[in-house]
Amino acid sequence: MDRIFYNGVIKTVDDAQPLVSAVCVQGGIIMRTGSDEEMLKYKTENTELIDLQGKFMLPGFIDSHMHMILTHYQNMLPDLGGCKTKKEVLDLLRAEADRHRAEGRADEWINAVNFNQDYWSDDKNIPTRLELDEAAGDVPCRILRCCGHTASHNTKALEIMNVMKEKPGETTLNMKFLADGTPQGQLFEGDAELAAQFVEVPSVEEYVEWIKEETANCAKLGLVGIHSDDFNMVAPGRDMDNVMAAYKVAGESGVMKCKVYEQCRVEEADILKEFVKKYPRGTQFGTRFVTSAIKEMGDGSLGAHSAVLRGSYANDPEAKGVKVHEDDEMFELFRIAHEAGYPVVVHCIGDGAVEQVLNGIEYAQNRHPMPDIRHGIVHCQIMGTDQLYRMQRNNVLAYVQPVFCRADAGIVDDCVGPELAKQSYNWRLFEDLGIHQSGGSDCPVEPCDPIPNIYYAVTRDNSKGGSWYPENAVTIEEAIRMFTIEGAYAGYAESTRGSITPGKYADFVVLSQDLTKIDPKDILNTKVLMTVLEGETVYEA
Ligand SMILES: [Zn+2]
Repeated sequence: MDRIFYNGVIKTVDDAQPLVSAVCVQGGIIMRTGSDEEMLKYKTENTELIDLQGKFMLPGFIDSHMHMILTHYQNMLPDLGGCKTKKEVLDLLRAEADRHRAEGRADEWINAVNFNQDYWSDDKNIPTRLELDEAAGDVPCRILRCCGHTASHNTKALEIMNVMKEKPGETTLNMKFLADGTPQGQLFEGDAELAAQFVEVPSVEEYVEWIKEETANCAKLGLVGIHSDDFNMVAPGRDMDNVMAAYKVAGESGVMKCKVYEQCRVEEADILKEFVKKYPRGTQFGTRFVTSAIKEMGDGSLGAHSAVLRGSYANDPEAKGVKVHEDDEMFELFRIAHEAGYPVVVHCIGDGAVEQVLNGIEYAQNRHPMPDIRHGIVHCQIMGTDQLYRMQRNNVLAYVQPVFCRADAGIVDDCVGPELAKQSYNWRLFEDLGIHQSGGSDCPVEPCDPIPNIYYAVTRDNSKGGSWYPENAVTIEEAIRMFTIEGAYAGYAESTRGSITPGKYADFVVLSQDLTKIDPKDILNTKVLMTVLEGETVYEA
């Protein structure tokens, strides 16, 4: 044996042998599991013994939806996430603009990210063009909301983008206007990304560095796998080839410290047809990169009132949400991917978007029945109970982000009313219906740390000392499955990953405390001590 892990409390997430104390690993694969006495018999001269000192070990965590490339990119940009007031935001932009001028690069964009006006105590209105002009002056300036669905710009930026001449009632852009008919500064959904056409595409070498660094960060958090949606994040429409080329280099050279299941964001039918031919589902670069699904966008976000609802917003009857694709377009994307054997996973926040996707899945299935394909809905937040049953009938996977509870518990009831709110984020019913439910962070929206996600899945902490519809919570065992075996299932990898089972890859996380034995309140205090990927220690505290 190469390595024997012993003296642990090892929860395998495998019903055949749920709790053991030791595991034998050879060539990156789990050979046996059992008691210390049984496993230590396989020790030879060359065996490395790892004493777990009574600590808690699980299959390594898997995050089922995030954006690794975007996370890295955003970390390089001015971050407005910590701002507690609008004044703080504007002061930060002013300082940034002064720096650009002092360094002789006044024509270089300020591209600041991650603001959330819901957290501002002085004024919760997103800054207009005029307010941004006062802060940044003539330096082109754009600020992107944490959800990525809306951005505001100063006049200089709008001029460069050729948007200042747009008129209300005439424009084809999704944007706001001031009372005098001039642009207000804010653009929405796809158009929030207009400024990105001025960003240079990072080189393959740069992307390889990002992948190295970010997968190492994931390993620190106990992640052995992430499902990542990475195309069109930095330079929309122009960066996919370099991202794939970089994953090929990184995957084949063995520098990745966490496996990536790519959720391939391809939103145009013609490009999708080529993509599925060039990279069929399951295309691998080494053992640590695989193309796993096609990712599409269904709607926007709740905070920006761009999530598509079947009814209307309780606190904004005018808002209807914004569909990213018309039905025929979405159905065609489903048809192309489905017939190529690719599951489609779609971002849906509102029940109107969920409805469109369920229709799309039924359309594709009726034309070409494929009962085993694993289409999915990412986020599945605002939903009617009828739609959960429809997901069950169509074998649709749920990709949920429990940590969203922290921000959303305070706004959902206002947005959709309590009647629909209590049917929504209903992780309990997903489990009860036997729907495959995996957990993720949507990083950089929230950090890709599975521990807080597990905490919110179990507690539904409403950040006000209570619990938000606690009857919709899952058990700790279910939460652990969401971040292990279900993440593997979503990537068609449940026969090789996701549990501590002989024959599977040796992917483990060692934690400071037994999550199944502590008060749920204490889950947040859990530390990752070690992460093992394919038998290799990729992180040690
Ligand atoms: Zn996302």
